[in-house]
Amino acid sequence: DMKRSGRNGFRFFKGEMNAQALRWLALETRLRRAIEREELALHYQPQVSRIDGSVVGMEALLRWRSEEIGAVPPGDFIPLAEDTGLIHPIGEWVIRRACFQNKAWQNAGLAPVRVAVNVSANQFKSGAVCAIVRKALADSGLAPRYLEVELTESVMLGDSAAAEAQMAELRAMGVSLSLDDFGTGYSSLGYLSRFPLDKLKIDQTFVRNITTEGRSAAIAQATIALAQGLSLSVVAEGVETVGQRDFLGLIGCDVMQGYLYSRPVPAHEMAQLLAKGRVAV
Ligand code: C2E
Ligand code: MG
Ligand code: MG
Ligand code: MG
Repeated sequence: DMKRSGRNGFRFFKGEMNAQALRWLALETRLRRAIEREELALHYQPQVSRIDGSVVGMEALLRWRSEEIGAVPPGDFIPLAEDTGLIHPIGEWVIRRACFQNKAWQNAGLAPVRVAVNVSANQFKSGAVCAIVRKALADSGLAPRYLEVELTESVMLGDSAAAEAQMAELRAMGVSLSLDDFGTGYSSLGYLSRFPLDKLKIDQTFVRNITTEGRSAAIAQATIALAQGLSLSVVAEGVETVGQRDFLGLIGCDVMQGYLYSRPVPAHEMAQLLAKGRVAV
């Protein structure tokens, strides 16, 4: 519309683009300093057994609170971090933080559970993730079975032989691998038999409409059948209602993650959830 509205309209459009570029640049400068200024934190969201409400795992989710501009959601700064290469130091910080925190909880006597960290495709494709994970485990003392790496389908596009080799190396270390946002990417199903995965995460877009839209329900059901057939475990993301939970239970999904149980919470609140060992709904 703006492009069609003549000379002034076009100038306005260009001005908007410059303003956007400047905001992006200012954000990058701030993100660059975020680690040293200790503005990054991990929040944790429990993964819960539908059967008895026990906490069976947790996902670490990155939070950035900038001194100047306040909280910035990951959906805004992760893409920027990927474009600028900042995802590499930030991603390393996330892996190390999650390992040290999980080990500290275990040292404090809390029942051990696995922590899942998100590793973006760019970060994974750099080839450095195995070495970073190995060092984080060694430095923290966390046993590898208490770490899970969440990848997305885009990891398996492009040089898939390199991706496969890295996944095999993580598995050989004893680290678990899950496929995040399953069904939303652009991959073929063939990779499910080829790549060494442990778990599929049913994306929240399917869970959201599961009780109201036959197509979402069908996709969730097919994902669960696929996981069972391939001996993978399955977690549903974005479970917000009892109706969604019960429907997922009926179609064979027993592990849930979502606001129904808990939002992602700061470490001290996650410690309380781990101490209780279960989440009541
Ligand atoms: P994700 O890995 O799929 O994480 C799940 C997202 O769903 C999280 O958003 C979580 O807060 C949100 N969520 C959980 N339960 C519910 C629910 O019941 N309803 C709704 N509506 N949302 C729910 P968040 O924390 O904003 O993170 C968004 C995305 O940013 C993540 O999606 C992940 O792709 C990325 N991200 C977050 N932390 C990291 C990180 O440390 N590294 C990388 N590379 N990416 C990260
Ligand atoms: Mg995730
Ligand atoms: Mg997800
Ligand atoms: Mg996502």
